[in-house]
Amino acid sequence: MDSTAHLSSDGSATGECLRQRLEEVRGRIATAAIKSGRRADQVLLVVVSKTASLEQMRELSGMGQTDFGENRIQQLTQRAAQMDEFLARRRQMQGIEGEIRWHMIGSLQRNKVSKAVELSRLIHSVDSLRLAEEIESCAGKREKPVDVLIEVNISSEESKHGISAPAVRHVVDQIDTMANVRPRGLMCMAPIDADDSTRRSLFTRCREILEDVRKAGAGGARFDLLSMGMSGDFETAIECGANIVRIGSAVLGSPAVSETPEGQ
Ligand SMILES: *Cc1c(COP(=O)(O)O)cnc(C)c1O
Repeated sequence: MDSTAHLSSDGSATGECLRQRLEEVRGRIATAAIKSGRRADQVLLVVVSKTASLEQMRELSGMGQTDFGENRIQQLTQRAAQMDEFLARRRQMQGIEGEIRWHMIGSLQRNKVSKAVELSRLIHSVDSLRLAEEIESCAGKREKPVDVLIEVNISSEESKHGISAPAVRHVVDQIDTMANVRPRGLMCMAPIDADDSTRRSLFTRCREILEDVRKAGAGGARFDLLSMGMSGDFETAIECGANIVRIGSAVLGSPAVSETPEGQ
């Protein structure tokens, strides 16, 4: 089918087109997983919904997609409420059970941590010890331990968020001592202008850092998540060891007003 069919006038996918795009992405994830000696279900697809309409989110949830990522806490909070309402109504009217797991993937200001702790299944973007300490404090108050990933500044770009590669182990060691923050692995992003071979070497480097931390015994047995790969490079990332991919436009299409600024 022509992939432009069912694109709204703004370029976003709905209905059968959205289903096909989701299935195509799932298929490509499965192929890359198998190519790297794993099963399809060993790679988690997080659909990045920052540019999604509410209609697209409802449809994706109806198609069985459970994991969604947002990079701004205000939108995550709003969407979580809207989708809770949708799931509750669907349960009541149609008896269909559904669940959504939210992933906070964008840079997080310390004064927004409380909401992120309340709503997120996994915070991918811990980029400083001070942020981890704030999470510890909020999670302690709520008595709700939170799983986090350490964001690694893998390309050492000054403009990028993240912990520098040599400092990762120390940060994981420190977070390990916190009662309510559980370090689960690493997250990274390749620079927008990187070519495939650069991406491959950066993703491989991130995987090596994960393995080094594990070998050193930091993070415990559950330090095994590697969140890397977006629409343009998720197959490469999976081949390099990613077990979480964060994908937006390849599933959703590209609405004209697609870019939301990073951060809040
Ligand atoms: C937007 C975003 C993505 C998804 O980007 P696409 O290219 O649309 O797949 C992944 N990770 C982060 C941190 C993002 O902000």
